Amino acid sequence: MKATCHHRLPGLGDHYYPGLGNSGYDARHYDVRLKVEPDSNKVVGSSQMTAQALQDLSQFNLDFHGCQVDHVEVNGEEAFFQRQGDELTVVPATPLQSGQQFEVAVDYSGQPTAKNSLAGPSLVGWKHSPYGVVVDSQPDGGQTWLPVNDHPRDKATYSMSVDVPKPYVVAANGTLLAVDDQGDRHTYHWSSRDPMASYLATVNIGNYLREDSVGPNGLPIRNYFPPELADKARHDFGRTPEMLEFFGNLFGAYPYEAYGVIVVNDPKAVSGAMETQTLSLFDPSMVTGDRTNEDLVAHELAHHWFGNLVSVSQWSELWLHEGFASYCEWLWLEHTQGSAALEEKATQARNSLAQEPGIAIGTPPADDLFHGQVYLKGALALHTLRREVGDEAFFAGVRNYLQTHAGEGDKNPLISDFQQAMEKAARQPLGEFFQAWLYDTQLPPAA
Ligand SMILES: [Zn+2]
Repeated sequence: MKATCHHRLPGLGDHYYPGLGNSGYDARHYDVRLKVEPDSNKVVGSSQMTAQALQDLSQFNLDFHGCQVDHVEVNGEEAFFQRQGDELTVVPATPLQSGQQFEVAVDYSGQPTAKNSLAGPSLVGWKHSPYGVVVDSQPDGGQTWLPVNDHPRDKATYSMSVDVPKPYVVAANGTLLAVDDQGDRHTYHWSSRDPMASYLATVNIGNYLREDSVGPNGLPIRNYFPPELADKARHDFGRTPEMLEFFGNLFGAYPYEAYGVIVVNDPKAVSGAMETQTLSLFDPSMVTGDRTNEDLVAHELAHHWFGNLVSVSQWSELWLHEGFASYCEWLWLEHTQGSAALEEKATQARNSLAQEPGIAIGTPPADDLFHGQVYLKGALALHTLRREVGDEAFFAGVRNYLQTHAGEGDKNPLISDFQQAMEKAARQPLGEFFQAWLYDTQLPPAA
């Protein structure tokens, strides 16, 4: 991109969704304070972004959908602002110098709503219902509840303080630091230690039971269940500590301060499940009491390495999240039921894929980003790669890829970076393999 003037056009260079995110600065932290009336969905919010200017800035953008912006300050000085669609343009009273750290405080109010996703026919973001609120945002719903740099290439830490009437419970990312009692209301203070992409931030408000347990190395596990589903859910999610240990041994220790799931009350808010960081969301219909959907439990946990710790640079390369999380379901199956069960799963996948026209999973349709083949053909591609290069090279290459690209958004990989890591581990060129499995539409023949 060209950088010839001192303000930046919206966008962070995403090929599929060019309006997402904004350039010119690096967001470091969001401090979000919300007063929420869950019955009417009225929200009074203030969000303070701490960021660093990456160039001289006379103005910059945030992504923000809905609500009314009441007031904007930059470094304590009132700033001019303008809204156009989902872009909030801020003009600081004093222009920012390249390298300068700055703080933007936005006061807002209204009734946040989910938005139509750019990536397919679904709603993303703040989902209000008679049950309360669920926030489920992939890929572009983060901007429905706070002004944000809404792209995984700019991760930040978050603190969230949410004031709700009793007896509503607030479950969000990270660690619950305190609940302040104010009589008939209370405020939940949540804090995320590690950088997080905006689509992984979540706030859930409703009637939930919290259950705490402990994972490997003393990792806190806190689950939130609707009271009427708690007995079944406790059993369904009961192998989480073992999964943390299993994936930790394969890919490196679980990278966050806590883990857990929330089974949301609202049956329409989440389709299946979502890997919101440190607190995965589950659709209540996934709870059966007999671990029928344990593959999904493994899938969302595995995203904490593939998607959350290491995130896409381009949304078109979602395979780097979904292919891996899907293959991790198979790895869990292999771990619990043996290698014959794994091979059976691979055969079933091949048979099912052979019955439909193939797509190039390295470039799925922009308006159908979550196409099923990104998951299923994506998992089979990884399984085939593992068989081609052998277990030792496969897992060494994957670990190396994770280490290289973990953490902040400027380290986010491309598929070509993964290919390079695997070529290095396997000591062989893999260009033909990646072309056939990721960029050709046809299903490659069985080896
Ligand atoms: Zn997934």
